[in-house]
Amino acid sequence: MTDEDLIKAARNAAQHSYAPYSQFAVGAALRFSDGRVVTGTNIENASYGMALCAETVAVAKAMAEGIRGGLEAVAVTGPSDRGGDAPITPCGRCRQVLNELAQLGGTDPDVLCVGNMDVTRLKLSQLLPLAFGPANLD
Ligand SMILES: [Zn+2]
Repeated sequence: MTDEDLIKAARNAAQHSYAPYSQFAVGAALRFSDGRVVTGTNIENASYGMALCAETVAVAKAMAEGIRGGLEAVAVTGPSDRGGDAPITPCGRCRQVLNELAQLGGTDPDVLCVGNMDVTRLKLSQLLPLAFGPANLD
């Protein structure tokens, strides 16, 4: 699956967003070394603080399917009519959640932060330098 396809998968996932409070639909797609792709979208709650981000949902789905590594790339998309043209980046919590899955497989995935005008490609280690992870508990 190409990066373009991964971004499309994230956009498709965002169509199932449950964001009645923010109206800010986010999509995420994870690509693994064996070719699998797992997507997620944000899920809000009437108790606002209970909201789940798209990236966290995708990681939870992947781990629930037994995936424990091989994370190669992540695409994150936001609504095209909100937030300006800047590429959307994972929030701090999601960076940590992605790091857990990545470290299990010893990868430093590309994170494709999609904006209206372009895509910013960063390594997860750039988004979360000096990350605390599973190895710190060995
Ligand atoms: Zn998040």
